[in-house]
Amino acid sequence: YTASLRTNFDNLQELSNELRIGLDRGEITVLLQPQVDTRTWSITSCEVLARWAHPTRGLITPDTFLPIAEDLNLLGELDARVFDETLKALEVARHAGLKIAHLSVNVSGKRLFKQTLIADLKARRDLPKTGLAFEVLESAFLDEASEEERLDQIWALREMGIAIGVDDFGSAQASISSVLAVQPDMVKIDQRFVRGIDQNRKLRSLMHGLIKMAHSVRAYVIVEGVETQEEADCLAEMGADALQGYIFGRPMTVEQVIELDAAIRAPNPAQEKAAE
Ligand code: C2E
Ligand code: CA
Ligand code: CA
Repeated sequence: YTASLRTNFDNLQELSNELRIGLDRGEITVLLQPQVDTRTWSITSCEVLARWAHPTRGLITPDTFLPIAEDLNLLGELDARVFDETLKALEVARHAGLKIAHLSVNVSGKRLFKQTLIADLKARRDLPKTGLAFEVLESAFLDEASEEERLDQIWALREMGIAIGVDDFGSAQASISSVLAVQPDMVKIDQRFVRGIDQNRKLRSLMHGLIKMAHSVRAYVIVEGVETQEEADCLAEMGADALQGYIFGRPMTVEQVIELDAAIRAPNPAQEKAAE
């Protein structure tokens, strides 16, 4: 027992030492997870998910390295790397003619409501006029800033062409009214309401309420963590605008998104035969 605690501790210590070096070496990369529109069943947007491509341990997920980055006060640098990688991916996607509304980047409440964010973004000469969205955890709407400050910041971002989404909607970390007061462009409903929804009346009624509330402020509703076709069909029928989850694709490279999009758009020989 103590031996395994010790190993865990040593492991963490080692990762801490390596993260700093990894950042400098450009080992922080991003993967994209497609979001699929329920009317067209084509890819409309992608979420940007950070990964640490560790030279010996392989791909490390954010649950492991975000807390370390926070401890080491490296979150700012990490955000900057993720943002750079996102702009690169957007460039590749556009060059390939991929028609997506945006790449949606996870942004902590701390970063979103930082005084200098707008000035920092405006200082970047490579900022695209469209194609970016920020995804903010519901919990960010708790206490970081006053409602007025939040609205000002969010409108400033919108004026720069950045769409605003609320992540993990319904996780009850902030009051629904304070979240909807910022009139988010997108609302992402938490995966906890999804698992087995096709067979669970109670989940369906919760989901109905959440979708209705989000639509009441004209937000585009995305449901995440969709793993089965049954869940997807059920959610589409209930009025979700877009779906994201393993059934449509795991987080992947921008090149893989481009391939997947082409495969979805390609005429399906089996269907054409059936139509003859
Ligand atoms: P999140 O924003 O809620 O992201 C969704 C997580 O669910 C992702 O895990 C994704 O890979 C996973 N997921 C997607 N589809 C499914 C599914 O069908 N079933 C299941 N069981 N899981 C699914 P990931 O990539 O490990 O990210 C974990 C969290 O790390 C994210 O949660 C987000 O809060 C945070 N994160 C990721 N990238 C960044 C970043 O660049 N900056 C910041 N601040 N946070 C990030
Ligand atoms: Ca997210
Ligand atoms: Ca989420």
